[in-house]
Amino acid sequence: MAERLTGHTELVGLMAYPIRHSSSPAMHNEAFAYLGIDMAYLAFEVDNSTLEDAIKGMRALKLVGSNVSMPNKTVVGQYLDELSPAAKLIGAVNTIVNDNGRLIGHCTDGIGYMQSLKDYDIDVIGKKMTVVGAGGAATAIEIQAALDGVAEISIFNIKDKFYEVGVETCRKINENTSCKATMYDLADHEALRREIASSYLLANATGMGMKPLEGKTWLPDKSYLRPDLIVTDTVYAPAETEFLRIAKEVGCKNMNGFGMMLFQGAAGFKMWTGQDMPIEHMKEVLGIKYGD
Ligand code: NAD
Repeated sequence: MAERLTGHTELVGLMAYPIRHSSSPAMHNEAFAYLGIDMAYLAFEVDNSTLEDAIKGMRALKLVGSNVSMPNKTVVGQYLDELSPAAKLIGAVNTIVNDNGRLIGHCTDGIGYMQSLKDYDIDVIGKKMTVVGAGGAATAIEIQAALDGVAEISIFNIKDKFYEVGVETCRKINENTSCKATMYDLADHEALRREIASSYLLANATGMGMKPLEGKTWLPDKSYLRPDLIVTDTVYAPAETEFLRIAKEVGCKNMNGFGMMLFQGAAGFKMWTGQDMPIEHMKEVLGIKYGD
């Protein structure tokens, strides 16, 4: 490290709270070292109360860029100079690029999800998908899928505070893309069965399956699935959720959330360095296995 960091080393940040558990610093620093890029990636404990100052600091210290995570994703946009079309539609930023003093906000979560499908030979473009979830991860996936050319998206959510977010996401998709999006109540099992039956892919983008909801799924039973249905989960801890366990039992091609995590990072890495993240090396080093 002492040899690697010099007076020329440039810095990429991560602004979130809590953040000490994040695997992003290990991922990016390994990729910088592997490719011989003179950059370092550090996590900073920043919440909404210190975010504006942190962004000013980023400008003053000429950081190359930064990742942004909870609780700052939906708040940081107001301090930036420009937002990507996806970040604007999603209403969240997870990646900032410092373009010669202009700070540009992107949302790479959906890009990461779509790229991970491609990496696993899953082609959902021009087809129909059903997504369960209307929170941050779900919205990013739904908007990016629509922007990328998925033909139809059926969104299901429980009637909590996120349901109206899902309704709004459908409106944005239908008004701004050629994709047709429809919102359903997750309690409507008849609609759930029908929409899954006509979908190429079924995605869980809720926190069901990870702590404190580990071992649980919203899927009523395995008769809703069929062997040629693609099944994905945004959760990666545990690597196999109850949802994915059932999908495997039915024989569905399936993918956990590691791919989304890896490729959302790779998208930011490319924006900051101009280089592709060494994906196969990263999978090996981080012990990432996201499907069967
Ligand atoms: P969020 O709080 O924004 O949204 C939570 C979602 O879960 C909402 O749709 C909510 O209605 C739903 N939900 C909560 N409790 C539920 C229940 N009992 N039954 C059914 N639905 C329920 O959270 P988020 O940031 O969107 O994260 C969702 C999941 O995605 C988490 O597990 C998170 O770890 C994962 N995630 C993964 C990545 C990745 O890179 N793989 C990135 C972001 C989030």
